[in-house]
Amino acid sequence: MQRIQSTGYPILFGNEAYTELSKQIKNNDYSKIFVLCDENTRKFCLPDFLANMPEDFKPEIIEIAAGEAQKNINTCVDLWNYLTQHEADRKSLLINLGGGVITDMGGFVASTFKRGIRFINIPTTLLSMVDASVGSKTGVDLGNLKNQIGLFSNPEMVLIDHHFLRTVPEEELRSGLAEIIKYGFTFDKSLWETIKTFSGLDYHQTENLIHRSIAIKNDVVLKDLKEQNLRKTLNFGHTIGHAIESYYMENPDKTTLTHGKSVAIGMVIELFFSSKLFDFPMKATDELKAFVHRFFGKIDLKKEDFKPVLDLMIYDKKNVKGRVNFVLLKDFEDCRIDVQVPDELLTEGLEYYLREV
Ligand code: NAD
Repeated sequence: MQRIQSTGYPILFGNEAYTELSKQIKNNDYSKIFVLCDENTRKFCLPDFLANMPEDFKPEIIEIAAGEAQKNINTCVDLWNYLTQHEADRKSLLINLGGGVITDMGGFVASTFKRGIRFINIPTTLLSMVDASVGSKTGVDLGNLKNQIGLFSNPEMVLIDHHFLRTVPEEELRSGLAEIIKYGFTFDKSLWETIKTFSGLDYHQTENLIHRSIAIKNDVVLKDLKEQNLRKTLNFGHTIGHAIESYYMENPDKTTLTHGKSVAIGMVIELFFSSKLFDFPMKATDELKAFVHRFFGKIDLKKEDFKPVLDLMIYDKKNVKGRVNFVLLKDFEDCRIDVQVPDELLTEGLEYYLREV
């Protein structure tokens, strides 16, 4: 797999990545090397990672509990303390081995420790490979508010090895696939043409999809790092998707949804708006809905849930002056940003998602 050059750092794949990383470690003057894992990546990914590295590579391992609940400033304080107690200095290196929680938070901890030490990201979930791996965003949550604290900061390199996906639970794999579908609709129809034939999902199917997804996101980021215009298109499906995700998370009567499943539902509804407002082909909207129902299952959204879900959209980060802004499509690979949707259509969109095709 060919390497991808991002904003000042390379994204490397498979064997080449391990060779480059080993070279980089040998040729550099790192005073100490730390590997940050969570409990799952320590168990499932660290042994494979070490087996691919030279025998004399003996980093210090830092382990934290798994999950989004850890992604906060208190964990960062623990990590800064750990680094201090273990004599990390400005020439130390932090390798983040994990999903988006580990790479986002590890990147933030490294970028702020002693005004910044170097770090390398090794994403181990499909979502973190195709999304969090590119774009230089690091950070943590503030209470329930996601990614409120953080900064743009580049890793030294990103290493992608799709074999780590072997142990990722299938639900998490499907969650990552939703972001790839998003790249399909917004930037490369052929990705969607491939995915829509899938009846299940196995990590073997992901290698090319990952490379293409990273290349797409990287192109977008190179043109618009700070999300002024083009990068906003990557929020397709996320306006409604985030609202549904938050509603299910906060509501004790509902089961929590994965991020990707919420985004998949959001894409169906936002594509319905696109068909109504921009004549996006309805046949393709129906096709996505049928796939999402089949592949992700239909959620138990009731009429009385509609208003609280729609109310949650006022927190969307793309909103300006209280207006809820959507990313809609005129056609495949042809997006419109900052679009407002009439209130009656919002409810129709939720009803559309619930109807069988
Ligand atoms: P995660 O890091 O919580 O990983 C999901 C679960 O999978 C965790 O329990 C983890 O321990 C486990 N896991 C990870 N790798 C595994 C493996 N190989 N085998 C078995 N289990 C494994 O979450 P995620 O879905 O990877 O990422 C979500 C986070 O990423 C969110 O915090 C989100 O804000 C962030 N994100 C950041 C960006 C960005 O641009 N920086 C983009 C998208 C998402």
